[in-house]
Amino acid sequence: MKILIQKFGGTSVSTHERRALVVNKILKGIEEGFCPVVVVSAMGRKGQPYATDTLLSLISDEFKKKNSLGVDLLMGCGEIISTVVVSDELAKNNLQAVPLTGGQAGIITDDSYNNAAILRVESEKLLNILKEGKIPVVAGFQGVSEKGFITTIGRGGSDTTAALLGVALQAEEVQIYTDVDGIMTADPRIVSDASLIEEISYNEVFQFADQGAKVIHPRAVEIAMKGNIPLAIKNTMSDCKGTIISNKAIQSSNNVIDGITSMDKRVQVTVECSKNTDNDNYWVLFDELANKSISLDLINVFTKQKIFTIDEKDLDNLKIIMKNLGLQYSYVEECTKISLIGAGMRGIPGVMAKILKILARERIDVLQTADSHTTIWCLVESKNAERAINSLHRDFKLGGCEG
Ligand code: ADP
Ligand code: ASP
Ligand code: MG
Repeated sequence: MKILIQKFGGTSVSTHERRALVVNKILKGIEEGFCPVVVVSAMGRKGQPYATDTLLSLISDEFKKKNSLGVDLLMGCGEIISTVVVSDELAKNNLQAVPLTGGQAGIITDDSYNNAAILRVESEKLLNILKEGKIPVVAGFQGVSEKGFITTIGRGGSDTTAALLGVALQAEEVQIYTDVDGIMTADPRIVSDASLIEEISYNEVFQFADQGAKVIHPRAVEIAMKGNIPLAIKNTMSDCKGTIISNKAIQSSNNVIDGITSMDKRVQVTVECSKNTDNDNYWVLFDELANKSISLDLINVFTKQKIFTIDEKDLDNLKIIMKNLGLQYSYVEECTKISLIGAGMRGIPGVMAKILKILARERIDVLQTADSHTTIWCLVESKNAERAINSLHRDFKLGGCEG
């Protein structure tokens, strides 16, 4: 039995017309000799009735803080509704489908609600459904704890469900269907002439995903990579070949930069450590930040200053820690971290110089930079981010016209 995992995101299942296109993709999989396992997200995006954010807007912040079990039960409803609606669409096309919650599909998690860890996938039930010639339609983004409560596995987690099932069922491929043609050289909502990346390595796509490109969840990439299952990103609304993710792509990439992604809502924090005692004890600050689960990024430790960025959601907690430790600090809100990604930049001199020259020409202040073998990061004020990304994209010739 050749198993194919086909995951359809929120926009792909949002309307009757789009669900008809979903059925076409499933039919194509069957015609090609595969047994499809379908994974679905909640229908639509914020504002649409069953989207995850809309469901979340039904309850108070107070409830959210105190009742994470209830929040997961509510969030899980969006995907569950989609399984039944898509099964109905399949039935209308004479295909027998079985709608399943994540738990019924065998996804067992711990009980860290809102961001549960996967303990195991019990694939027997799905295999039995496939053997009966039926199509399992699984609710993405959720599992069940060993105590039997519905859990969710982190926002954007339906991609993760697809990758998990791909590995558990040893699928031929995991196809992630969304509203763009595949992984592009930049978010097409920011750069209008972003071009399609036809092949890319797991490592590079992990960087894209981890650094803010929403198109696939980083955990899904990690799981597929470890399980050595081929991943493809495709458009539900077109017949474009999409992006193939494999290890092969490493050798085929000749570009210095393959693409640009960004992460907004960053806050740059500068801690002054002028006195010797502060310098001796500065690590206490990092300990405290870790204890409060505040994750840091772009960390630079100098003798008299420690500079790093945090997510804006952690700012209130940071202020409390600073007050308790009596440290002098300042911060810049509304920053965006731009990531330029490319396996080809390894060992090539002058890439950072070129980036800084482009941004200087555009009169865009660079607040901080960092680099690794495959990524260069620049922190800029969010008001300049779109202009910065477009200039970098143009000057590195990533656009569709330049190829
Ligand atoms: P889905 O609901 O199908 O899971 P998402 O909204 O999670 O869809 O992800 C698709 C979106 O990711 C696209 O609409 C696009 O705006 C965004 N995106 C960000 N960066 C990229 C990129 N480099 N390539 C393609 N899409 C990107
Ligand atoms: N519906 C969930 C979310 O909005 C999961 C997903 O779409 O992948 O985060
Ligand atoms: Mg998504």
